[in-house]
Amino acid sequence: MTDMTDAPNPLGEDLLDARLRLEDLIDRDALDELCKSFRTLFGINVQIYSDEGTRLAHSSVEQGICEYLNTTGGGRKACGATVNAVKLKDPGDEGDVVHPCFNGAAYRIVALRYDGRRVGRLIIGPYLPAAVTDAPPSLFLVDSAVEPDRARSLLLKMPRAKDVTITNLATHLKASLDLILFSGHKALLTSQMHLASVRESYRTLEEKTGKLQEAYDRLKELDRLKSNFLATVSHELRTPLTSIIGYSEMLSEGLAGVLEPEQAEFVKTIHEKGEQLLTLIMGLLDLSKLESGTMAMRKNTVDIAKVLGEVLSTLTPNARKKGVKLELEMGENLLAVRGDPERLRQVFINLVDNAIKFTPTSGTVTMRARTVLGDGGDATGDDDASGFALLAPIQKKLEIRVLDTGIGIPARERAKVFDAFYQVDSSSTREYGGTGLGLSIVKRLVEAHGGTIAITDNAPQGTQFIVAIPAASTTGPLSVRPPPSRPSSPPSSPPRLT
Ligand code: ADP
Repeated sequence: MTDMTDAPNPLGEDLLDARLRLEDLIDRDALDELCKSFRTLFGINVQIYSDEGTRLAHSSVEQGICEYLNTTGGGRKACGATVNAVKLKDPGDEGDVVHPCFNGAAYRIVALRYDGRRVGRLIIGPYLPAAVTDAPPSLFLVDSAVEPDRARSLLLKMPRAKDVTITNLATHLKASLDLILFSGHKALLTSQMHLASVRESYRTLEEKTGKLQEAYDRLKELDRLKSNFLATVSHELRTPLTSIIGYSEMLSEGLAGVLEPEQAEFVKTIHEKGEQLLTLIMGLLDLSKLESGTMAMRKNTVDIAKVLGEVLSTLTPNARKKGVKLELEMGENLLAVRGDPERLRQVFINLVDNAIKFTPTSGTVTMRARTVLGDGGDATGDDDASGFALLAPIQKKLEIRVLDTGIGIPARERAKVFDAFYQVDSSSTREYGGTGLGLSIVKRLVEAHGGTIAITDNAPQGTQFIVAIPAASTTGPLSVRPPPSRPSSPPSSPPRLT
């Protein structure tokens, strides 16, 4: 396998200019296979060396004469010297040289070139040149233990070849290697280009992630600044506004003298608009406190029946004025919840106020409370879910539904209505008043109580808000979870419960 740490820089343009090494281009097993098949076909050994002199593959099966000479001291020494000399022999750039062995055999050393550069060497041999018909004297002189007849007969068994045959074989081998090198080079280029493109994609991704993180941090900081700004401005607006409302109230009560009917009408408008503005400012203050986690909330045991009873009595006049029926349906054995009764009242005042606002005359608004199991099954009846309660710890919740028979909220708008300032109809000709802050505050307050809020239809007509809050007896001390972050809502910290 290619060692990428030693390889030249394979990326980009460098890849094409990189100095190629034989061992980077060809799998050693494939080279071995080539050498072995050559040996099987022609009976002559082949070895392949890298340009740096490392043997990459060979098919060496020792020739009988070599085996025999290696049994003698002088023969072993002479054979070693020949092998070393062959290894070191440089065939030159284009070259092809013959190295004779003392025993009469010969080696052919051929330069391997690829892509205009030398990449290694091919050593073919030993073989007996066709011109050699008898053993040379140097074979017998190498060691006195060498038996001339035996040595001669073993030498003459060595594969014999004409120079031209060896040249043809070398050409054939080089051509085969060239093909293998070409496909190896192609595979190397492809894999390295792939690697380069993966690295590039990774780098781009990292760059983009960095930018996104920066943008996120900036947005978070901006959001914090916005919350601070809102809190400060709202607070500063509230004080003079309270005076405006107070003084307009005193004026309409005649404390500064009796007003003409037209004056009284003007003062009434000032008072009404002041109240509207105050509601908006209080909403903004609540929202910024909820977002910054500085809203202080009590952690009491809350009787939800009492809270809903208060909501009923507070909003019954509104409902009557509009000709809407307001009802409260309490389930049996309602469990208490842990939280802030004031804030929970605020939640249901908002939901019921909206329900009345968006329900036409002779419609009905209903608050329905019951205790349910964690998965929404009825905790009071023979609900199937109670079977599971034997296997898992029972988690009971209080579910309060606010149902109306009003204009309804289209399914695609349901997630958005919890965003600050979002109104389904935001046109200038909208029929209903409001600021678009109520539901975003409601959602955060419910989540601050560990609860959830959802919207569904109230078939055949109207909307259902479903609030679920863990019951006190199964939840222990109230734990406040931060509201889950949605892309459309700014990141926020959980409100503080005291
Ligand atoms: P607003 O001050 O406009 O009532 P909210 O945040 O309380 O602001 O509500 C956001 C929007 O959700 C409303 O403007 C209205 O379009 C829609 N909405 C809320 N409650 C109801 C409901 N019961 N029926 C129909 N639409 C509703």
